Amino acid sequence: MDKKENCGLFGIFGDAEAVQKTFFALHSLQHRGQESAGIATSNGSSISCHTGMGHVSRVFRSGRNTLDQLKSSIAIGHVRYSTTGSRNLANAQPLLSEYSRGQVAVAHNGNLINASLLRDEYEAYGHIFKTTNDTEIIIHLLAKPSHVAKPDPLGHVLNHLQGAYSLLFLFPDRIEAARDPYGIRPLCIGKTKEGTYCVASETCAFATIEAEYIRDIAPGEIVTLSEQGLSSRYFVKPGSITPAHCIFEHVYFAKQSSSIFGENVHELRKRFGAQIAREHPVKADVVIPVPDSGTSAAIGYSQESGIPFDMGFIRSHYVGRTFISPEQNLRDLAVKLKLAVVAEVVKGKRVVVVDDSIVRGTTTRGKINALRQAGAKEIHMRVSCPPVKFPCFYGVDFPTRQELLASERDMQQIKEFLDVDSIGYISLEGMLSCASLPKDHYCTACWTGNYRIPVQTVVNKFTMERYQMQLFDDESAQL
Ligand code: SF4
Repeated sequence: MDKKENCGLFGIFGDAEAVQKTFFALHSLQHRGQESAGIATSNGSSISCHTGMGHVSRVFRSGRNTLDQLKSSIAIGHVRYSTTGSRNLANAQPLLSEYSRGQVAVAHNGNLINASLLRDEYEAYGHIFKTTNDTEIIIHLLAKPSHVAKPDPLGHVLNHLQGAYSLLFLFPDRIEAARDPYGIRPLCIGKTKEGTYCVASETCAFATIEAEYIRDIAPGEIVTLSEQGLSSRYFVKPGSITPAHCIFEHVYFAKQSSSIFGENVHELRKRFGAQIAREHPVKADVVIPVPDSGTSAAIGYSQESGIPFDMGFIRSHYVGRTFISPEQNLRDLAVKLKLAVVAEVVKGKRVVVVDDSIVRGTTTRGKINALRQAGAKEIHMRVSCPPVKFPCFYGVDFPTRQELLASERDMQQIKEFLDVDSIGYISLEGMLSCASLPKDHYCTACWTGNYRIPVQTVVNKFTMERYQMQLFDDESAQL
């Protein structure tokens, strides 16, 4: 995989089955991060937390035992892919800490672009950090005595953060859910059949626990779930900042069944596919997707062009991480392990292959090679987002600019690199015209280099790792 998921959040207040529902909701958000998972719960006066490495089913594999120990009516949960900090247990979330006001557990989706500067400042005053992720700085900001004394300490602290953040805070008596002023990552509110409120990164989590979607948390809004029900306040003036929703969520990250930023992901991806068919028509016999994220766009391409849709690749859902080999033939084998070609669908045919994006291009080249070996007569590559030319500093782990296929190559060079008969990317204008919000309400920095929140210091996911720290993954719980 060239591009990595970010993180997924879920929280629920006042529900007798809060822990089980969080467990199921995290399962449904697993596509957003598979490195670690965790659940923190409150009994009204103290917080417990269990985190571990791997998928939700692995972290909570002792099943009822762990969930029973966490049993409570208030819970937040997190699935993580590291966009800052290494893949280790210390960086797993929720992060549980104690400060002068008591305990707090924090779960974060996004990337803080000023975390390193803030950490330098706090370390100079003697603060000691336990992790190498950007989220921990938020707890230090919360604990600062001058911040504690503010009328709304959390709102005050959030105003110090720059970058992308959808956040859940579990205090012993409440959950606070907040979204950065640009609304870069999604976060929405739901209500269960029993009438309890919950929050999640994507609406697919609500469907899993039979909750209904109520609304999105607005950019710059803090929503509190407590004994008093749901209340809201803003830490920036509503409407004062034009949003910059990550449209890559629609292209790749979010689950097709979810609705984010006001529209269903599958339907929008189909419109992307139809738009590419209009922009890059070709005579062909069959349209095949690169599953799963290219499937909806391929359906849209097929419907618009009239070329039959079929499944030329079958994804194995049982393959975990594959090693990264520098040797191309081993990389090609790794691709084949994940995606099996159905030779009967492509042999002797002119094939349109639809993928959501191309980042480095090496895995795409492996897929094209596999189609050639299976006897495809012509291969026409179609991509449902424009050429990715710039890194993301807002919570998506793209490679560096030098490693991005399209950063220094023109279309002819990309075509030659991939060894395809034609290549066609959706245009930026075309992509934005398919979405329902005004065009300037989306972040497009990875295609344009226009970063809505200026990035002064070039940061990468290992920015916080100044020292060689030997941290071992283990199974120990923080319970
Ligand atoms: Fe999303 Fe790209 Fe913006 Fe990152 S740079 S937030 S991936 S649109």
